[in-house]
Amino acid sequence: MTPSTRHLIIVLGDQLDRESSVFDGFDPAHDAIVMAEVSEEATHVWSHQMRIALFRSAMRHFAQWLRGRGWPLHYLDEDAHFSVSLSAAVEALIRQLQPLRLIVCKPGDWRVEQALLALAGQTDLPLDIRVDRHFYTTPQEFAAWAQGRSELRLDYFYREQRRRHGVLMDSAKPLGGQWNYDSENRAAFGKQGPSPLPPVLAFPPDALTRQVLDEVGARYAAHPGHLDAFDWPVTSEDAEAALDDFIRYRLADFGRWQDAMWLGQDWLYHSRLSAALNLKLISPRRVVDAVERAHRRGEADIAAAEGFIRQILGWREYVRGLYWLRMPGYLDDNALNAQQALPEFYWTGDTEMNCLHQCIEQTLRLGYAHHIQRLMVTGLFALLLGVRPRQVHEWYLAVYVDAVEWVELPNVIGMSQYADGGVMASKPYVASGKYIQRMSNYCSTCRFDPAQATGSRACPFTTLYWDFLSRHQQRLAHNPRMQFQLRNLKRLQPDARAAIADQALRLRRHLDITSTAVEEPAPPPDTDPTEESHVC
Ligand code: FAD
Ligand code: SF4
Repeated sequence: MTPSTRHLIIVLGDQLDRESSVFDGFDPAHDAIVMAEVSEEATHVWSHQMRIALFRSAMRHFAQWLRGRGWPLHYLDEDAHFSVSLSAAVEALIRQLQPLRLIVCKPGDWRVEQALLALAGQTDLPLDIRVDRHFYTTPQEFAAWAQGRSELRLDYFYREQRRRHGVLMDSAKPLGGQWNYDSENRAAFGKQGPSPLPPVLAFPPDALTRQVLDEVGARYAAHPGHLDAFDWPVTSEDAEAALDDFIRYRLADFGRWQDAMWLGQDWLYHSRLSAALNLKLISPRRVVDAVERAHRRGEADIAAAEGFIRQILGWREYVRGLYWLRMPGYLDDNALNAQQALPEFYWTGDTEMNCLHQCIEQTLRLGYAHHIQRLMVTGLFALLLGVRPRQVHEWYLAVYVDAVEWVELPNVIGMSQYADGGVMASKPYVASGKYIQRMSNYCSTCRFDPAQATGSRACPFTTLYWDFLSRHQQRLAHNPRMQFQLRNLKRLQPDARAAIADQALRLRRHLDITSTAVEEPAPPPDTDPTEESHVC
């Protein structure tokens, strides 16, 4: 009989951290590691092919690194007969190795953690869930911070993070004198568009990735998205190079153009580091330190450095804390009682609304859209239309290469869909088509007019925006941050309001934009409802 293994270390697909706590005390003579490619992770939501391929390629590269260290690894690929679910894969190995203990780093999904706890119960083995040192904040520390607070605003959390970790600080004061330079992070390009943009560093697929692409292309051909443009960092070395490229060529302009969108420009000044961070190929401390150093060397002004660091030290840590605080109930939040189905075109990009067409096409091609494309185009339309938040969540979890539930769910349920009723966002992020017109050039080639709420050329965003305010007027009446928008709603004449409600109803029923068109007499006042940015 084989002597039993001491510890079986489970390395999950998004836990590819060379410094992970699971390796503390690892003894190759007595311990073993398991990694598994399981179909459940590709199918529990209808995952984009690029997302499946990125996870698997990064996993196989990590496996190569582990083998290079001479550590015993059981890598279970999908052809193994037991690999439908992670639990089934690990259970089969437990029978073979008879370990005394299971060790895992805290998973990024509540679902996966529950499955592992159940497995430990069934096999009567202790499960050691170790702290994920990748993050600055543990779920327990976040829960302690949240205790007794009725509103969990990012601003307060972020200031504490800055103080506690000594990031962008000048003794006890924020470097530059302000905590937040958000007001400098909202510029639009104007008619001339962006200056010539530096090309992003390319990561063409190596032989290992090409093999994964072939397998995923064959096995998951019916899944959404494409694989042709695969160009993501898949190792820690790649992630370092991507960080270096971002700091060198795009950081300085990141803050200013953070919210802007432009036809044909997929990356603009964004870092495209989210997937590498979420797979744990690079640590947030490494990224934050490098950006702060670049600022101190004079390579990026404070607004750019602070705007970027806020996303990682602030938002990224904050959403993870919120996720663990509110799960599992978070999945079913639906404060606005939204019941519409997600339009079919979210899976194809086949819509006449140019902004949605562009953002969804880009998403299907790359598995990527930047924050404002997610929040103020695809997310905004779902919110205004009144799509069931859970369906919206499943779409976002499926289509982005950086999607892991701990980060995706709060961004969708809390920030984008206001489905938690205001725990995360101080108001719903709602705007008419005029916001998209201001922040992009999508409207210039669209057949709709963002200034019109009714009639054959009415922009559906604008129609649904006024309709949203009407429908939720009572609920939002006591929110001080909604007063400007609600005052404008009150200025609408009753017949204009009725026409908007009628057009919105038909949009919802059919989502057949062309046939809903009726000329209506009274467009709403030409006001811009979003004087404020998304505040991220
Ligand atoms: P940059 O614009 O360069 O930002 C730098 C980094 O900051 C990102 O890499 C990311 O790690 C972090 N960051 C920025 N905004 C956020 C945020 N709101 N929450 C957490 N981290 C943030 N991000 C994900 O990583 N995975 C998701 O599944 C995801 N889903 C989202 C869904 C919606 C509806 C919205 C509105 C946002 C979502 N985000 C998600 C946040 C954000 O859109 C992405 O992190 C960002 O677009 C990734 O591109 P980038 O790396 O070029 O980011
Ligand atoms: Fe989008 Fe409306 Fe602009 Fe068309 S007009 S691109 S639908 S915001």
